[in-house]
Amino acid sequence: MTQPTALITGASRGIGRGIALSLAAQGWNLVLNYARDESAARRTAEDCTAAARDAGHTLRVTTQQADIGDASDRDRLVRAARDFTHSCDLLVNNAGVAPSVRADLLEAGEESFDRLVRINLKGPFFLTQQIARWMIEAPPARPARIVFVSSISAYTASVNRGDYCVSKAGIAMLNKLYAVRLAPHGIGVFEVRPGIIATDMTGPVREKYDRLIADGLTPIRRWGTPEDVGKAVASIASSHFPFSTGEVFNVDGGFHLRSL
Ligand code: NAP
Repeated sequence: MTQPTALITGASRGIGRGIALSLAAQGWNLVLNYARDESAARRTAEDCTAAARDAGHTLRVTTQQADIGDASDRDRLVRAARDFTHSCDLLVNNAGVAPSVRADLLEAGEESFDRLVRINLKGPFFLTQQIARWMIEAPPARPARIVFVSSISAYTASVNRGDYCVSKAGIAMLNKLYAVRLAPHGIGVFEVRPGIIATDMTGPVREKYDRLIADGLTPIRRWGTPEDVGKAVASIASSHFPFSTGEVFNVDGGFHLRSL
């Protein structure tokens, strides 16, 4: 069988990079999207090539700049992916942003709300629409998969970043919607829900979370890593869950558990 191909948004840094490295080691070809940091995207592509080689695979990889919140950029990204491969086996909707400034719910402004909903929710909504049509029109050799990277913020109320929480709660609904709509086409849809993961996004709140984790916020008392999320996505990608769709995979050190 020919090597499968994955399109990963926001793959230059952080969690997207971790997902790319895990898939590369399993022999996936990759379309790596990024927004601004071209050199980081190139570095990730090189590291993926090395990871694939170490695992005995030959990788085809391309990097593609596109703001997923922008319709014409999404069109350009999909065109580039279609030039790269006949069919798409896996879409990972990972790209996302945190609010530039955390603001109390009673003070929060529309500009930040619009930015977060545009990039974190509208982008995945319409990118998935385009890729799903392609998956139906040109079915890949293995069952196609779509993964949404949401967050514990999909169900946790943080009143100093309500815009982010709303965007991630919307992603949880996208998982359900696309799971139902695409099941008749044999396309599995999954939500991966990371907890507190050490990336640039959490850099500004590192000390605060160090304290919370040490105090027992998560049963597994450590930061999560991009590799932790990468391993979860690679498991989903390998079609190990043929009779599941719309599932939520918590990758959060047990944050979602209640205990007494
Ligand atoms: P990160 O380190 O800040 O990396 C973000 C990635 O997304 C970068 O590759 C960036 O590309 C890309 N990106 C940003 N805006 C984009 C846009 N408009 N179009 C396309 N790509 C864009 O963030 P991260 O921590 O890895 O987060 C990745 C995902 O996981 C996000 O959806 C985030 O909400 C979610 N998440 C993170 C955590 C956490 O604790 N870190 C927890 C739960 C969920 P450039 O660098 O080129 O701009």
